[in-house]
Amino acid sequence: MPQSFWADYHVHTRYSDGRAAAREMVAAARRAGLATVALTDHGPRNLGVGVYSARAFLKLKREVASWDTAGIRVLVGAEANIVGLEGEIDLPEEIYSQLDLLLVGLHPYVLPVNLQAACDLVLANQLQHISKRWREKALAANTASLLAALEKHPVFCLTHPGLGMPVEIETLARACARAGTAWEVNVGHLYQRPQELALAARCGVKFVVNSDAHQPATVGNLEAGWQLLQAAGIEPEQVLNFSRAAR
Ligand SMILES: [Zn+2]
Ligand SMILES: [Zn+2]
Repeated sequence: MPQSFWADYHVHTRYSDGRAAAREMVAAARRAGLATVALTDHGPRNLGVGVYSARAFLKLKREVASWDTAGIRVLVGAEANIVGLEGEIDLPEEIYSQLDLLLVGLHPYVLPVNLQAACDLVLANQLQHISKRWREKALAANTASLLAALEKHPVFCLTHPGLGMPVEIETLARACARAGTAWEVNVGHLYQRPQELALAARCGVKFVVNSDAHQPATVGNLEAGWQLLQAAGIEPEQVLNFSRAAR
């Protein structure tokens, strides 16, 4: 039976740290045979890589609306950063409410909202390898801030949960399942272990497999994600962007 991914919901453009223009990324998605692609640049507080201002997302949205996107559905969203322990993200509701989807993730180098977040989120994650105490602090802060973000914002998916910044998988996956937020399998990084995905799956969460492409060549490169899901024993029905019938 033919099987395929029909959407890639996590792609970067030159608006943040992607190497190609939005148009080139969409062209690549079309070549990859996708029915849907989402342009999801980094929020502005991601140091060195974020968009210049939250308003950049609206500019990209207007740009995309002016194109002929026949043959492919193009969504404009954001990969917002967690910047506070109470689930603060670096994108105001007045902006993300005008976008097609909101992705949220933890990144190590962000401008935090206050001193507490600077210590528990930024510093603790930098120092997690030197002692158990710092690792536990990072684990608690990472998990709590993501849980709070799920309560506060309509999050489509959590990007690369656990990548370089530890999270309590079971607690977080249960919260995602309750909130209707997908758990990302990130093919751009491929750091996840099948056992971790199987644990998240047992919590009832849905998965989305994304490329996190920063260049046209990797848009829609999702096969490795499927292999990982199979190794974890996850059924196609649990994957949002996978269809048994090729499109
Ligand atoms: Zn990311
Ligand atoms: Zn990304």
